[in-house]
Amino acid sequence: MLKLTPLFSGSRGNCTLIQTNNTNILLDVGYSYKKLLVALEGKNLTPKDISAIVITHEHDDHICALPMWTKFVPNTKIYVPQPIVNCIANRSYSPYVEGIGGSFVVGDVTVDVYQCSHDSQACCGYRFSNEGQSIASITDTGCFDEQTVQFLAPCKVVQLECNHDVTMLQSGRYPYLLKRRIASPFGHLSNDQCASILQQLIGTNVKKVVLAHLSENNNTAELAFDTVNKMYQKNNIVEGRDIQIYVASQHTVGETID
Ligand SMILES: [Zn+2]
Ligand SMILES: [Zn+2]
Repeated sequence: MLKLTPLFSGSRGNCTLIQTNNTNILLDVGYSYKKLLVALEGKNLTPKDISAIVITHEHDDHICALPMWTKFVPNTKIYVPQPIVNCIANRSYSPYVEGIGGSFVVGDVTVDVYQCSHDSQACCGYRFSNEGQSIASITDTGCFDEQTVQFLAPCKVVQLECNHDVTMLQSGRYPYLLKRRIASPFGHLSNDQCASILQQLIGTNVKKVVLAHLSENNNTAELAFDTVNKMYQKNNIVEGRDIQIYVASQHTVGETID
């Protein structure tokens, strides 16, 4: 049984727990180490139970707990996109920082890799598969295409970036260059872009969607939910019956989705 729990999600920090009965993977550790420990404790886990940490990219909101984590649990294996191996090795105490070339295996989970379009040295989304079931997560990407849809289509559970509401971003207080960066093809997916991807996934395996990496300043959980839900309504898909929509939170550990 494959499960996903969004522990923390948003522009201030990200960490997702992926589990089978035998394997526990942390996708990113971009939040306070102490709060991660508390969140894991809530799932009856300690850092020693974590089979591996898989990193999307080198921005602080995805790796900031790495120094502390690897100081206390130096044996944790860390998988990172190949171009950032040195960068991550320099910021951690783990001797086990491994560059990802293609698909790889952690315990009983096969991990497939998707190349995101983001203003980092490298950034990956991932699909986790076990016993014929798959869960995927794509955040920190500024655009999408047919490949994005195909990568997500086999999954029952999809965690997808729903970063900003375009109107809130454009009318907000961010400096012009930052607004341009966020909205660029190397920035973050807007609510509309997220909904558009999910629309193309109608009729595939996808049954549960987790809206993730919401901006604290340029989005709200209600706006993200409504944008996606309205798209489903237009397509005669009923939330709660045909599809389930979850919104991952920055401050509260989300419910476990399987
Ligand atoms: Zn980033
Ligand atoms: Zn991020």
